Amino acid sequence: MSTTDPRSIRISPDLLPADGRFGCGPSKVRVEQVEALAAAGGKLLGTSHRQAPVKNLVGALRSGLRDLFSLPDGWEIVLGNGGSTVFWDVATFGLIENRSQHLVFGEFSSKFAEAASVAPHLGQPTVIKCDPGSHPVATAEPGIDSYAFTHNETSTGVMMPLVRPVGADADSLVIVDATSAAGGLLWDPSEVDVYYFAPQKCFASDGGLWVAACSPRAIERINRIASSKRWTPASLDIKIALDNSVANQTYNTPALATLVMFEAQVRWMNGLGGLAACNARSKRSSDILYSWAESKSWANPFVTDKAMRSHVVGTIDIAASADGGVDANDVCTALRANGVVDTDSYRKLGRNQLRVGMFPAVDPDDVMALTRCIDVVVDALRG
Ligand SMILES: *Cc1c(COP(=O)(O)O)cnc(C)c1O
Repeated sequence: MSTTDPRSIRISPDLLPADGRFGCGPSKVRVEQVEALAAAGGKLLGTSHRQAPVKNLVGALRSGLRDLFSLPDGWEIVLGNGGSTVFWDVATFGLIENRSQHLVFGEFSSKFAEAASVAPHLGQPTVIKCDPGSHPVATAEPGIDSYAFTHNETSTGVMMPLVRPVGADADSLVIVDATSAAGGLLWDPSEVDVYYFAPQKCFASDGGLWVAACSPRAIERINRIASSKRWTPASLDIKIALDNSVANQTYNTPALATLVMFEAQVRWMNGLGGLAACNARSKRSSDILYSWAESKSWANPFVTDKAMRSHVVGTIDIAASADGGVDANDVCTALRANGVVDTDSYRKLGRNQLRVGMFPAVDPDDVMALTRCIDVVVDALRG
């Protein structure tokens, strides 16, 4: 047992990262985004979302995302209030026709599967599950109209490649929870129909909004379900959201500050060189983190298969104190006392683990500095 109070550990200021925010959502917001907010303050904040200034902002956001993802013609960026959690309900009403297949490999992927399985208007979904730390593989199944993937399982730090199942029904949809992946991981629109996310992860803005990039096949599905007799609450109706989005509006009032910071980040990402450059930056951060962990006797990347190790959310197991390690909670407490925050593991995973958000806004040099800070803290805790 360590007898050192973690809050008493002092890290030398020259070792600290320039920015100590490593959360997986909410995540680091760049100074320039807050400056964009201040600049918008006098003229845009507090004005109608039905008038040109806010509609132009939404339009700039939608076209910036189209550029970032290199979306082919016919795709639409759809948005609404409520975040990704609400989008699971939106999809349950307006995207799944009858039966879905879900890959479940952590907390977030399990929630959409749960929403679909309890919906009274849908058939029972197929759930393909594996233990945390890996991801299952989809198999084409007749009668499945929606395949639900998670690009990056934020609770475990596992990323999966997005590939349409070979032999799937011709008009089936691939629906991807990309909440923590969008803007940081690469994907090919020809393998996907709906790529949905929220702005508080790679886009470094606030939560509360959902965004879905929708293929022409997905839009066809949305229109078909909307013209059927299925009852749908208006606030969860993706057809209403689509009609508002193409007019650069939302069905009800959005948080304007969220949109301003979101659009500023998308502009920065496109200026950086687009999705490839953003992914390269996150990959550099994650290479630093994983190779550091591999070099320590008391740390190890949780995800054993290197191809599945996320570029945007790193999970590092720490050895128990009986095995020469320390309590990961004490590491987080000591880091927090020095202004380095949100390195805690996903609670329900129940491991002695650190979890590090490495979204594009995070500087790889700061990830390097974080590893040095952890070394100092672990040395101090081990006495
Ligand atoms: C954060 C997260 C969610 C939940 O997003 P909210 O906007 O808080 O509802 C869902 N899925 C994944 C993969 C996430 O990382």
